[in-house]
Amino acid sequence: MAYTIACRDFGTACPYVARGETIDEVVQDAMKHAKEVHSYTDEQLNDPKMIEETKAAIKEV
Ligand SMILES: [Zn+2]
Repeated sequence: MAYTIACRDFGTACPYVARGETIDEVVQDAMKHAKEVHSYTDEQLNDPKMIEETKAAIKEV
């Protein structure tokens, strides 16, 4: 069992899919990607609404 978050679910054309063995891991991976590739700031990533949307986009695979 693993979890994924597809970047395209956030309205981007980006093919990246974050993966993790746990919810925390996949959220960390998605946040790292958003920061490195999409230039999100820590402030944006720590926004409760952003965290909520990220968690809502998690899929079990
Ligand atoms: Zn992306």
